[in-house]
Amino acid sequence: MADKTAFPRQQQDPPGWTRQMDPVPDHGEESYQGSGKLAGRSALITGGDSGIGRAVAIAFAREGADVAIGYLPEEQEDADETARWVRGAGRTAVLLPGDLTDEDTARALPGKAADELGGLDILVNNAGFQMARRESFEDVTTDEIDRVLKTNLYAMLWVTQAALEHLNEGASIINNSSIQAYQPSTSLVDYASTKAAINNMTVNLAAELGPRGVRVNAVAPGPIWTPLQPSTQPPHKLEKFGLDTPLGRAGQPAEVAPAFVYLASPADSSYVSATVLGVTGGKPVF
Ligand code: NAD
Ligand code: MG
Repeated sequence: MADKTAFPRQQQDPPGWTRQMDPVPDHGEESYQGSGKLAGRSALITGGDSGIGRAVAIAFAREGADVAIGYLPEEQEDADETARWVRGAGRTAVLLPGDLTDEDTARALPGKAADELGGLDILVNNAGFQMARRESFEDVTTDEIDRVLKTNLYAMLWVTQAALEHLNEGASIINNSSIQAYQPSTSLVDYASTKAAINNMTVNLAAELGPRGVRVNAVAPGPIWTPLQPSTQPPHKLEKFGLDTPLGRAGQPAEVAPAFVYLASPADSSYVSATVLGVTGGKPVF
């Protein structure tokens, strides 16, 4: 086990692009089989161009949902690819580029999605950013803190506030948390703190929105092979990425998507709110 290599050394600039990854991740393109769990539903997935967001978009579409995705303008190529899979499942794909660290852009996103989809039933707050290329806490810059907190927390608050106008009884909000909320890495002090805050926000909003019939939950992934990793980790860390989990490997985006399907499905999770579902390769989420 000691000299096992998880992934080859590689490096990209943020936000990272799928096609440049070695190996290219598995988003369930060839494996995910739907069974109508989200028939007729409309979903907005932030960061839906790549990684976990793309796998969720593919799964939702195959379960019968129309899907709008948010992403950064420079990720157009990845967004087009996600849209291709959603349309391939016979569903509508709406592409909404924009930088969510800008308040006006973030607040406008749910309205655009609802307009184009004819409503909104599911909000997946998945967009996120981390920076792990640093030696110590003293190296953390204000620019990094701004980008991490604005992407992971401010944008989540802005998008969720604006989405509430469109979410009716039976709607589901799913936030992307992380194992980092429970086992924070020293190199991810700012990122990990946002993920702990996201868990707290999930419980808090579930309490307020429960009486409206809106459920709020989170998924906490462990190490998952997505563009976020080669674009923000030091290359040598990728060689060991995920090997420290009980299952002994990193996960693929395709392995995380079913947790989002479960929490989105009004039939499967009708009595589930304020929970954090771990998909961690065996690391504890309590
Ligand atoms: P990813 O890079 O494929 O997805 C993140 C997406 O966030 C990007 O594609 C981008 O579109 C979006 N984004 C980032 N900054 C943005 C901004 N300013 N405006 C608009 N969109 C922006 O990587 P991923 O790993 O699939 O990440 C998805 C979520 O999963 C994130 O919240 C991440 O924190 C979380 N997560 C990932 C892992 C992992 O190991 N990959 C583990 C736990 C949690
Ligand atoms: Mg991306």
